[in-house]
Amino acid sequence: MKKTVLFLLIGLAVACAPKNAVSSPDGSIVVLFSLSDEGQPEYAVSVDGNPFIGQSVLGIETSVPLNLKNGFRLESSKVTSHEEKWSQLWGENKEILDRHKELEVKLANEYCSLTLRFRAFNDGVGFRYEYGIPSIPFVIPSEAKESIVITDELTQFNIAKDGRSWSIPAHFDSYEQEYRELLLSELENANTPMTFRTDDGLYGSIHEAALVDFPEMTLKSHDGILTAALAPDGPGNSEQKAVVSGSFKTPWRTIQIGRRAVDLINSNLILNLNEPCAMKDVSWIKPGKYVGVWWGMHLGLYSWGKDARHGATTERAKQYIDFAAANNIDAVLFEGWNDGWTVANADHDFDFTKPAPDFDLDAVLAYARDKGVAYIIHHETAGEVAWYEQQLEKDLDYAAERGIHALKTGYAGWLLDGHYHHSQYGVRHYAKVASEAAARKIMVDAHEPIKETGLRRTYPNFMTREGARGMEWNAWSSGNKPSHHEILPFARLLSGPMDYTPGIFDIEYRCIAGNPDVKVWNNTHSSKCRVSTTLAKQIALWVTLYSPWQMAADLIENYEEHPAFQFFRDFDPDCDWSEALQGEIGEYIAFARRSGDKFFFGATTNEVGRTLEQPLSFLKPGVIYTATIYADALDADWQTNPYAYTIETKEVTSADTLAITLAPGGGQAISLNPKL
Ligand code: CA
Repeated sequence: MKKTVLFLLIGLAVACAPKNAVSSPDGSIVVLFSLSDEGQPEYAVSVDGNPFIGQSVLGIETSVPLNLKNGFRLESSKVTSHEEKWSQLWGENKEILDRHKELEVKLANEYCSLTLRFRAFNDGVGFRYEYGIPSIPFVIPSEAKESIVITDELTQFNIAKDGRSWSIPAHFDSYEQEYRELLLSELENANTPMTFRTDDGLYGSIHEAALVDFPEMTLKSHDGILTAALAPDGPGNSEQKAVVSGSFKTPWRTIQIGRRAVDLINSNLILNLNEPCAMKDVSWIKPGKYVGVWWGMHLGLYSWGKDARHGATTERAKQYIDFAAANNIDAVLFEGWNDGWTVANADHDFDFTKPAPDFDLDAVLAYARDKGVAYIIHHETAGEVAWYEQQLEKDLDYAAERGIHALKTGYAGWLLDGHYHHSQYGVRHYAKVASEAAARKIMVDAHEPIKETGLRRTYPNFMTREGARGMEWNAWSSGNKPSHHEILPFARLLSGPMDYTPGIFDIEYRCIAGNPDVKVWNNTHSSKCRVSTTLAKQIALWVTLYSPWQMAADLIENYEEHPAFQFFRDFDPDCDWSEALQGEIGEYIAFARRSGDKFFFGATTNEVGRTLEQPLSFLKPGVIYTATIYADALDADWQTNPYAYTIETKEVTSADTLAITLAPGGGQAISLNPKL
């Protein structure tokens, strides 16, 4: 009898469930698929039964008479469940749970078939288009079998409620833009991740996962509805967005959803939508810490090459290697090491197999090897990608033969050979460099890159990248506002790690005051600039802005004998576990990370000073930890008293709660070591 009732109930549930819907494993998020009267695919997303993404159109426009937008009929649909624990070599978390339900929808019209794949997770939704030449002979124009030119993507994200949004403008050539806080209804265009909070208090972020052989997706408002806008090939070819073969998959379009702002950060949705690691031998891939002469160039104290101020000299390299060896720092980086630089600009004379006359690379490498310090080689391409690709294999062989396992690339300036940085051409190039580097056991840190979309899961040698306004802007412009650092973790860093290069201790550039050798090279003389921060905040950024390769970016002279540098000496960027504990977008953020049995805590605030109550329940129960607390002094203030800090040591356990006091524009960092 009981059994019969149960079967009846299940039967009712199946009958009541919408035919083409899929819910998250916890049932809170539902994706509903439908076809319009014209046979155009559509979807909607609800959270707790309330509309989150209203009815939104799907489809792709192509230049050939291939119809990927309407006239479709439903061929089949099925829902499957998936649960898997997987681990990664490095990342904020080493162990990740992938638990989702998938709805596969197969459509066909008179021209072709199209598969839409939706995945519903407890922390959001991803979906993609999959097109392949079907085995049944549909009426396909022969040219479409060879290559299809995609001219537009029609995907809408019809966010059901208005609210606040945080994003940078949609710009196809640079992510180095200031964040804007705008009403969703005011948003004309945005790059992704585009993060928002709806008026009913839910948080969301739109981005993409597994961006391979396709242009990036930005967002553009059409009649008040945010719609996918693919990066064009370039200013001279704005109609063409992508050229794909007769069989292709788009990147996943992703909508992360959270009830707290920090849920977006703690989500693994982007990584879960990428393919497993495709590399066999990954033993040589390791996170680490580094120092280098980079900041000296940005301040105008050093030059990249060819004058008396040249930063990358053999002598200075040895000083940095000595400093790294003495301070538990893994590696060094010297921009301007190679021949071909003018004072600050790259040109076609670049040669990544020829050191500058005053830089004896082999001697530097031998010195570094003796001291147990690794060397990161640098390739600044100035965006001359075709030229770079011609010599790429030779350049990487040159590095690999010398035992170098890390490469920083740069693509400063506008356009890549006339193509946008974020075009399909750019996407292909960045992947090619990472792949050629992997073949030679070289890790990559790309500046002026394409945005991260979780590909580090599949290609873990692509460690980190810039892709936002980094520290450099503070050296020669009005700089980054305090709140920039409380937006980045909720926006740019949802896509993946960022090489922000934090840790400037000489906040007002006192070390160059009155130095006549300091030159303007970009916009403003550095003596008129500063970092909008307190000292303690610079320390906290090493924790809050995640990068598996983390730089202490200041000149080593500013760290020598500085008591607060002990934090970086102790810091281990090779995390096992991380959690964003509390925060609000653009206001404040607090993280805890664990590396082995040590924990690191970091919190930062915008222009507003505040005290956070922080339970230490993330610590291992029953263990006493020695907490070394690097805090803003009580009278610290980013504008008037930025250097005032305190270091305090105390014993804590997981049962304790700390009051984390942050000065205006300030921060706090804590290292926690188990007491033996
Ligand atoms: Ca840059």
